[in-house]
Amino acid sequence: MGFHMTFYLSYKFRLLLLFTLCLTVVGWATSNYFVGAIQEIPKAKDFIANFNKAIVLGKKETLTNEASVKKADLDNCPSTSPYLRGQDKLIFKPDLTLEEVQAENPRVHRGRYHPEECKALQRVAILIPHRNREKHLMYLLEHLHPFLQRQQLEYGIYIIHQAGSKKFNRAKLLNVGYLEALKDENWDCFIFHDVDLVPENDLNLYRCEDQPKHLVVGRNSTGYRVELHRMKIIRPMPEVGKYTMIFHTRDLGNEVNIERMKLLHQVSRVWRTDGLNSCIYKLFSVDYNPLYINITVDFWSAP
Ligand code: UDP
Ligand code: MN
Repeated sequence: MGFHMTFYLSYKFRLLLLFTLCLTVVGWATSNYFVGAIQEIPKAKDFIANFNKAIVLGKKETLTNEASVKKADLDNCPSTSPYLRGQDKLIFKPDLTLEEVQAENPRVHRGRYHPEECKALQRVAILIPHRNREKHLMYLLEHLHPFLQRQQLEYGIYIIHQAGSKKFNRAKLLNVGYLEALKDENWDCFIFHDVDLVPENDLNLYRCEDQPKHLVVGRNSTGYRVELHRMKIIRPMPEVGKYTMIFHTRDLGNEVNIERMKLLHQVSRVWRTDGLNSCIYKLFSVDYNPLYINITVDFWSAP
């Protein structure tokens, strides 16, 4: 009896429930229809916009994810590269062309390279002041690219080319190179390099320590400024710091500065203000060539 009663009540209850349910469904459907109709356009717009955003974000995210995964996945390069060979005998082929050098360095793009097998310990900008030494430049590039790659560095080679015929100003070109290269990348380390000095030994590491390093041993140091900054100059062992100097005669218009000694004496007075802070130049062009970044500048004549 109790059972039957329960059933009876629950049957009524079920009917009521069904009825309410039907009402709710109809109400929900109609209200939704109107609301839906009013909102359809913005909703559709939103949807499309969001959809596009999602696609863009999705793409971007996968890209950044991939990139960060790649970067995160890559172990740091070892402190001693396994590709180092030590002392090398340099050969300068008289009929070498820039195209050949290019073909020998397929993994250099727009003057830059980074190791694919590991995360480079440093990102290094090589700054080379240049005018009218194309042949030297070609031989230097031929040797320097593989040399730096054997050291597993991320690097960029910047040629700072002084246009015009004013007296060649190597130091100022290096300052320009420093300022311009930083626009490309937040480099960890800057190497000032002559175009006619080719390193012979890849144990001579082109990377920065906490003190500046003079990579060329046996040539006169012009590091007096650095000494004023209370920094010591680190040098590699003499057998490692060997360079082949490409022979050249003194360039016309670049005669030895007879005021050289006078200028050297001024250094202790002017070094703090003369240099990067006073580096004004006419920037003509920045060209991203396959093997190097070329920055062409000229300076105003001294007043
Ligand atoms: N340089 C240049 N063109 C010049 C003069 C100098 O490209 O007309 C650059 C080049 O990088 C060179 C460096 O400045 O290696 C030093 O100049 P140079 O070789 O004349 O000096 P050295 O050390 O041989 O006396
Ligand atoms: Mn020279």
